[in-house]
Amino acid sequence: MTPDRSLGLTQAEACIRLARVGANRLAEGPRVSPAVIFLRQFAGLLVVILIVAAAIALALGERTDALAIMVVVILNGVLGFVQEWRAETALAALGRMVASVARVRRDGEERQLPAQEIVPGDVVIVETGDRVPADMDLLLAVQIKADESALTGESVPVTKEAGDPLFMGTIVVAGRAEGMVTATGTRSRFGKIAILTGSVGPKRTPLQRQLGRLARQMGLAALCVAALIGMLGVSVGKPLTEMFMTALSLAVAIVPEGLPVVVTITLALGAQAMVRQKALARRLQAVETLGAASVICTDKTGTLTEDRMTAVQVVMAAGRYDVTGTGYDPTGHIARAGRRVRADCDTALGALLETALVCNHARLRRAGDDWQMLGEPTEGALVTLAYKGWAPLPGRNAALAELPFSSERKRMSVLALGPEGYVLHTKGAPEPVLARCTHVMGVSGPEPLEGAVRAGLQAEYERMASNGLRVIALARRRQQDMRLPEDEAGLTFLGFVGLIDPPRAEVGPAIRAAKSAGIRVILITGDAALTARAIARQVGLRPSRVIDGDALAAMDDAALRAALREDVLFARTAPAQKLRIVTALQQTGQVVAMTGDGVNDAPALKKADIGVAMGARGTDVARDAADLVLLDDNFATILHAIREGRRQYENVRKFVRYLLSSNAGEVVALVVNLILGGPLIFLATQILWMNLVTDGMTAVALGLEKSSPGQMDRPPRPKTQPILGKGGVLAILGFGAYTGTASLWIFYSLLPMGEDLARSAAFTAMVVFEKLSVFAFRSLHLPCTRIGWFSNPLLLVALTITLAAQMAAIYWTPLQVLLQTQALGWAEWRLIAALALPLVVVPELAKAVAARHVQTRNSKVRRP
Ligand code: ATP
Repeated sequence: MTPDRSLGLTQAEACIRLARVGANRLAEGPRVSPAVIFLRQFAGLLVVILIVAAAIALALGERTDALAIMVVVILNGVLGFVQEWRAETALAALGRMVASVARVRRDGEERQLPAQEIVPGDVVIVETGDRVPADMDLLLAVQIKADESALTGESVPVTKEAGDPLFMGTIVVAGRAEGMVTATGTRSRFGKIAILTGSVGPKRTPLQRQLGRLARQMGLAALCVAALIGMLGVSVGKPLTEMFMTALSLAVAIVPEGLPVVVTITLALGAQAMVRQKALARRLQAVETLGAASVICTDKTGTLTEDRMTAVQVVMAAGRYDVTGTGYDPTGHIARAGRRVRADCDTALGALLETALVCNHARLRRAGDDWQMLGEPTEGALVTLAYKGWAPLPGRNAALAELPFSSERKRMSVLALGPEGYVLHTKGAPEPVLARCTHVMGVSGPEPLEGAVRAGLQAEYERMASNGLRVIALARRRQQDMRLPEDEAGLTFLGFVGLIDPPRAEVGPAIRAAKSAGIRVILITGDAALTARAIARQVGLRPSRVIDGDALAAMDDAALRAALREDVLFARTAPAQKLRIVTALQQTGQVVAMTGDGVNDAPALKKADIGVAMGARGTDVARDAADLVLLDDNFATILHAIREGRRQYENVRKFVRYLLSSNAGEVVALVVNLILGGPLIFLATQILWMNLVTDGMTAVALGLEKSSPGQMDRPPRPKTQPILGKGGVLAILGFGAYTGTASLWIFYSLLPMGEDLARSAAFTAMVVFEKLSVFAFRSLHLPCTRIGWFSNPLLLVALTITLAAQMAAIYWTPLQVLLQTQALGWAEWRLIAALALPLVVVPELAKAVAARHVQTRNSKVRRP
């Protein structure tokens, strides 16, 4: 059965078909299997070296060592697997979050459905920016062009006519079309060749690369140093096995094995935390870059405002009309000088409302007590207005042809056949529409649009716009034939409709928060300068200069860069101009977050450091190009995401310092001990235990540290800020020197009582030192007394687990055998505790003093 285009399938028939052919879904790509993730844990250079070392130890007859190394390697593998699996599943879940929706006609009504529910035979409507949801044959094509590069590799968009096929997965880059679905899911042409990877872009972030490089370099250095020391030892006559194990322990101590993995896990968990704030990171890089964002370029409609338009005023040559009611509920009325008017008793108003309805794709639908609007809010508001004026609805097939809306043309026209013959109905931004009008609709019909009247209309437009109204101009023209002109001309002006679109309540506070975080907000809108300025003021932006699209086009790059140093606002811009603005900002060293929702915004979104697309309102194309998708389309969400990004980055800095200072302590102890010529202070297996079993868990917990107070009162971090910096290096050296020396002290004080006991105490001391020093790294500036000792419960859990594991390492026989440890007595514990105490107390005191110093300095700065 072939359904009627204007009716579509019945819902019942669609359900039967869905049951028969299945959901419109592509085959899911092979997800990384758990086995692969597990095996990946054993692929690192260090692990391979360890496995070889275990084999060598075995060959040399050191069975316990060999076994111990293997136990640690496997334990490390299991821990790594658990964490990476968590990260992997978190990311895969994010990848599936932005489900596509499609506009489908069923039971004669248009509705929005998840693309998965489309079945063959459905009548689907696609517009500029949509990803085609299924294979279809076009029933109606309005200047439609499709980018089929995903399917054919051909990058030039293809023009389509009614009767042509449109393929799933391709992109509508212009126009509008209706088509009947011929194949869905894996039966579609795209489905046959494509599989969905369903995961966030696998590309590694700069931070991951930077740390990966650091880890590799340190690994290489470690191997060289270890080999050198091993060879030196053997050449002066030390036993081969001992020197081999010494070299190995040194190598293990230097390499920060956990670093790259911990970064990945932290960023992945960070992305998950962002989703709770309604920001979906499509690339991990976004999480990291967001923290450095210094400028947010935002559009207005829907991001700063609610995108719930209501027509409140109509202005025609004949006079002004007020409109009552809010939202899409048509229970209001149109009044002139306090008297209600309807389309049938006011010819000029009737003509305006007819054009508003014909030149329109939005639909209103009653849903219980509420009214639902399907389509664009601007158009929805015009339909509601027409309902309020009791305008008769046009016939279903009244529209014959269309010149579609685009953000460049800022207008659209529909050719329709009515009682007076062919009429071209136009609506759009006042400037381009008025420029094409030669007449104006007067009380008794069209009159020439003369200078004074034109000036009067212009003044009315400016008055409406400076009150923050979005103004749409409506016009029309009679035609003898049904030929669609290339461009609108010779129009008769009908009137302006002023729409309000209230600012979102959360935007004002978000803009204030951006200011105190040193982040500039630049509004770039397609709307009129006066409207944009009025809305900007309402949300707390105070632009000192407004540049419109034409002025921007006339500026050279240097002038643009200079203008961008001021508080600018860009109005009546074309999407392509956003790319220029991003580029200019980046040239001045800014890290730019840019919002966008249309097809033509994609290049700017890609170019921006953080491309931000709208989850609800944006096109599929914009979402594909973006790094971050706002699930609630709200500007305030960008700020939440930035806060989260700053927190993540700061946490990465914390655990990098923490992990490296732990390693530094071990290296200091080992090297100084080598110089002193004593017996090995730590066995290779013990170092492995410290670095692989106990450190990673603590570092991941450190990555979950809450954002520190005042984090959003500081300017963004400079782009070039090194992850460690001078302070970081000093902290690492300080901690390393202390923990290394303290464990040597314990080792040598206990050595007379036996090598194993001394080593067990030094080993345990090092673990305790490392665990307790984590408190010093929980905040880069504040003492724990300020951030709360218990404010990161996971860290406390990690500490408890790792300290319990260490207890097992010295008191539980199987581990005692493996790690060659001995039970410690009270005396040893007291010594360890006494030396560990300064690691908590000294940093606390130092930070408290520094924090007080900063406070007094700030209050002094504020006082005058
Ligand atoms: P922003 O860029 O901040 O989201 P915007 O939605 O106003 O603002 P565009 O979509 O480029 O930007 O619209 C530009 C202008 O075109 C609007 O100010 C309005 O006057 C006009 N316009 C918007 N939608 C339509 C439409 N569906 N039909 C005709 N004209 C429209």
